Amino acid sequence: MTRFVFITGGVVSSLGKGIASAALGALLQARGFKVRLRKLDPYLNVDPGTMSPTQHGEVFVTDDGAETDLDLGHYERFTGVPATKRDNTTTGRIYADVIAKERAGGFLGATVQVIPHITDAIKEVVRRDTEAYDFVLVEIGGTVGDIESLPFLEAIRQLGNELGPEESMFVHLTLVPYIPSAKELKTKPTQHSVKELLNVGIQPQMLLCRCDREIPENERRKIALFCNVRPEAVIPALDVSPIYAVPIAYHEQGMDREVLRHFRLPFDGAPDLSRWRRIVDAMTTAEGEVHIAVVGKYTNLLDSYKSLAEALTHGGIANRVNVKLEWVDSEIFEKPDAVLRLEGVHGILVPGGFGERGTQGKIEAVRFARERKVPFLGICFGMQMAVIEAARNLAGMPDASSSEFGPCDTAVVGLIKEWSRGNIVERREEGGDLGGTMRLGSYPAVLSEGSLVRSIYHGAAAIEERHRHRYEVNVNYRERLEASGLRFSGMSPDGELPEIVELPGHPWFVGVQYHPELKSKPFEPHPLFADFIAAAVRQARLV
Ligand code: GLN
Repeated sequence: MTRFVFITGGVVSSLGKGIASAALGALLQARGFKVRLRKLDPYLNVDPGTMSPTQHGEVFVTDDGAETDLDLGHYERFTGVPATKRDNTTTGRIYADVIAKERAGGFLGATVQVIPHITDAIKEVVRRDTEAYDFVLVEIGGTVGDIESLPFLEAIRQLGNELGPEESMFVHLTLVPYIPSAKELKTKPTQHSVKELLNVGIQPQMLLCRCDREIPENERRKIALFCNVRPEAVIPALDVSPIYAVPIAYHEQGMDREVLRHFRLPFDGAPDLSRWRRIVDAMTTAEGEVHIAVVGKYTNLLDSYKSLAEALTHGGIANRVNVKLEWVDSEIFEKPDAVLRLEGVHGILVPGGFGERGTQGKIEAVRFARERKVPFLGICFGMQMAVIEAARNLAGMPDASSSEFGPCDTAVVGLIKEWSRGNIVERREEGGDLGGTMRLGSYPAVLSEGSLVRSIYHGAAAIEERHRHRYEVNVNYRERLEASGLRFSGMSPDGELPEIVELPGHPWFVGVQYHPELKSKPFEPHPLFADFIAAAVRQARLV
């Protein structure tokens, strides 16, 4: 039997609903259940791919090439279950599908309405391909009370009714604020938030109460009484650090036990949390620290590089060191000598990005890393910047650039107009649609024998990694660039698309066209991040 747990949020946004959902997934897994996590987002974009990362945080790309909400990254990092395009939908996607069906005559004769047509489409998305799982956790984006989320709430209300309590449960995440002047915790916002849910016909069976301190028993009872929830199902969700301690903390507060009790499943035994204890232990007993400069553009909102920050932390776990990140806006390096600010860091990372602003600063940072022999990792746009830097400063092509920044004669990085995905040839034109049209998702790369990356990937001859880019290093410049010292050590199987470059003779200099951070897990740090941090440890002379 597949059981559905619907997770809504109230009072304010940014309470960590994604982490809470992911942690519940991890807890159920630790009790031997098969879980799948899904997210319903109330905005009108068909997917977050066209949104600025500073608005909505990073875009998380799945193996099957969907551009999804960053919460899917949390789900993967906590459960290890690879997400698919079926696991994230938006109001825009639902409406686009329903309207396309209407135009095709699929509803001939009917007046197409939010209820039942939109809600039916949502229910179908929630239930599609779920038979193989014991639990499907469905997180509803936004905050209860928003106009936008109403169709989703109505759909899950209907589902709750259709499935019955044996197969469905509603969990509501709220905030219990502490008011310093009164020296009191306040339960009223939680009560109001549950009232909002009741207004749309949903009675939660569990409340997860985010709070910055212990919630005394009498306050828990008060919340239970006013919100019609068992006192044991009022779960205090306190701030914990590191985030990988969240499954342990929620277990201690009884979260998994109460979910199992709701579904009348045996709840006496304990989940196997050894994986999480090992991770927390590695993080809290780490010795020494390395400083990594992340030279990017969207550095004012940390969520824009969420998976990257996590993957670097995983690299720290693999090496039992603390990784301190210094987020640097690359534009500052456009002033003379400003790049000297990088003196003393143990690693430099240029992450993914779009558009010309700040690129000169990124190129300066690459040059600094190359010349000063500081470990360097360039990801996607970062690799493209590394290639442009090598072309300009090593291979004697001073006007080398990317056609992303306008027409140029020496486009060492250019628009990819054609590539193959298995047997399918994908084609793009200049000026075409921007949504969902990049080279997206998992693609293989073949690694050269004797290369640094081949040893980093433990000798693997071929790998698969996730992509998200429109431009590509132009293979026609390979010979000139290789003659100047850059090595193309990973290529697409047809040899057309450069996937990895490295710099022999440099202690650690790697650029990758894909996003390795998307596949890193705390319990399985990605080899590139583990090795990059190992190189930073050597740089810091910690070994
Ligand atoms: N803007 C570059 C491209 O589209 C790089 C994208 C990225 O870093 N994800 O190719």
